[in-house]
Amino acid sequence: MDEKKKIADIYIRVSTLDQAREGFSLPEQKEKLIEFCKSKGYEIHAIYADEGISAKDDKRPAYQQMINDIKNGTVNVIVALKLDRLTRSVYDVEKLMKLLEKYGCDLDCKDDDSNTLTSTGRMCIRLTTAFSQNEIERCSERTKFGMVGAVKAGHIPNRTPIGFKRIDKKLVPDELTKDIIIRMYDLYLEGKSYQGIANIYNQEEVLGRTNWLDSTIQKIMTNELYKGDFVHGKRTKHPQYYEDVVEPIVSKEKWNACQYQTKRNARHYERTATYLFTNKLKCSVCGNFLGGKATTKRKSGKKYYYYKCEKCRTNYKEDTIRDGLLLQLYDLIRKDNLINKYYTPFIKHKQEDITKDYKTELKGLEKQEERIKCAYLNGVVKMNEFDNELKSIRYKIDNINKKIKEIKQCENFNFTTNDLLILEDTETIDTFVNPDIFLTNILNLTNASREEMKRIIGTYIDNIEVNKVGDKIELLNIVYRKSFLTDLVNYHNNYGVPYNFNIFSDEKGFKIPMNHEAKTSLEAKEYFNKLQDVVSKNSLKLNYYETEADSKLEDISFEPNGDYEQILRLIVLSDSKNYNDKTLRLGVITLDLESALYSRLNRKEQPNELCNI
Ligand SMILES: [Zn+2]
Repeated sequence: MDEKKKIADIYIRVSTLDQAREGFSLPEQKEKLIEFCKSKGYEIHAIYADEGISAKDDKRPAYQQMINDIKNGTVNVIVALKLDRLTRSVYDVEKLMKLLEKYGCDLDCKDDDSNTLTSTGRMCIRLTTAFSQNEIERCSERTKFGMVGAVKAGHIPNRTPIGFKRIDKKLVPDELTKDIIIRMYDLYLEGKSYQGIANIYNQEEVLGRTNWLDSTIQKIMTNELYKGDFVHGKRTKHPQYYEDVVEPIVSKEKWNACQYQTKRNARHYERTATYLFTNKLKCSVCGNFLGGKATTKRKSGKKYYYYKCEKCRTNYKEDTIRDGLLLQLYDLIRKDNLINKYYTPFIKHKQEDITKDYKTELKGLEKQEERIKCAYLNGVVKMNEFDNELKSIRYKIDNINKKIKEIKQCENFNFTTNDLLILEDTETIDTFVNPDIFLTNILNLTNASREEMKRIIGTYIDNIEVNKVGDKIELLNIVYRKSFLTDLVNYHNNYGVPYNFNIFSDEKGFKIPMNHEAKTSLEAKEYFNKLQDVVSKNSLKLNYYETEADSKLEDISFEPNGDYEQILRLIVLSDSKNYNDKTLRLGVITLDLESALYSRLNRKEQPNELCNI
């Protein structure tokens, strides 16, 4: 497009964690990129390097110098190894892209095909930023206050709250107790009350305690420390807000979602837990949340639930709304199961070995146990104090042992990102090929108890906009829980687990999963072959298409080859053959439904194994 000479800033970065990884040292990155610039004919203006710095935000000295170069028009292309060298935050990618566009600067990444020069490259960036809207909303909620050195360094005054521990005065998440906190937030989002959570914790004697109160839970749920922030002098006239001062235990999204839920609960307080959609249905006309109502048929004694907009006087049957949601819920549960079964072990496998830290901690706790026993025997502590202290220590010891065992189990997992994708695709094929299994699952979901259904809805759905045309109920806008989505995206950004960007759908309205990372035709073929090994042969096809994409990459269309074909997956192809910056090259994997069903009927019923790994 641009015939002007390209003048480049090279940006390289290495975090402390990366330094151990191969091919990521600063000299290596530098060498590769200088070579890359030469091959592309870019003149190099400057090389900026941030060392030992993570890319969770853009407050990095060298990065900011590069930004200045863009603003001054000194350079017109930024060169990096991968997009994740520039930033790991979806929000910052979006910010950078806007800036590049404004100042007419390009981006060219050597290793991950993200660039602004070709359709394929722009598609790769689009897939990265597809999620950014939520991040932007989150950012605007933030308020900035001045920072004080000690607080900034994580030295928080006051007592050490549950879930944290102190290392050299610094507050850090306590691996042994932080799960108690995370679960508390999850339970709350599922619709449990403070009292409800306290009851569960008392029953299970969490931390060896039986004195959990609703006020304890409330205090924890509203403490900013758990999302990483600190408010000094909370009850004074001039509280000081410090942002991101400790490592958070729950994400900002999750924490905020809980506060929002509290507000909504206060507005629309319904005592019974039996309404599936308490505070979740929004009237499309006036925007009010709907209140639940129930009537009992006198003859049968059966209860009927419905929701009403008091302002517009419209009624909505609960059953109809639930039925309209089933498919989406099914999909979310499937995704969640996949995460728990395969992604979590995959992530744990990728994490650094923390077994050693646990073992040191275990020794410390055992010593503590000895000390408290001595103190009791010498009459220093009283019986009930001794009992509580001992229970709490034992609880932590049990927890460590459990975690060590978990890590040991994960060591046997040897997944690659492709294996995880294959698992997903195989499951999708199963739903097309085995309608009976699919139907049974849906039926099970329909027959779930009201309590269970409420929990499922609470886990995934934030709110739904409902509309009524005549007798027909429409679900206009289903908003998922932000925390669920951000977790997925963060796993994706940090560990490379697949996150399907369903930004396109076929003409029947089915969402089409699209790979986040571009592949070469050869890699696409390899993936396809692997997938064919797992599912029935002959029913899958891989075709390559060249499409003319519109400039915003919102619409792509191509003429598929077969009749009864279901698109399974789109893969952006990054081969540089036939280089043309306007063409988007796609690998499209399709399933021939007819032949897939046919081969299944001719096959003896086999155990439905997912994948042999
Ligand atoms: Zn209304």
